[in-house]
Amino acid sequence: MKPQRTSKAAVESFRDFTASALFCPRCRAPQPVRDRLLLVLPDGELWEYLCVSCGASLGTRRVRSEGRTLLH
Ligand SMILES: [Zn+2]
Repeated sequence: MKPQRTSKAAVESFRDFTASALFCPRCRAPQPVRDRLLLVLPDGELWEYLCVSCGASLGTRRVRSEGRTLLH
């Protein structure tokens, strides 16, 4: 089982999410991560999380721009 935190609240303040550490399979240890804006989607943003030690991609997170202006 993966250590996975369920986001119960809406991810509006996505910048607060960066504080956590993720398990890095390459380092075989939990590592602090830094986020990188990967893509800007029509309905949100796609962030990538990189291990600060080896730079491996530890996952992506899609942040939906809820409550913000939606342009179609
Ligand atoms: Zn690593």
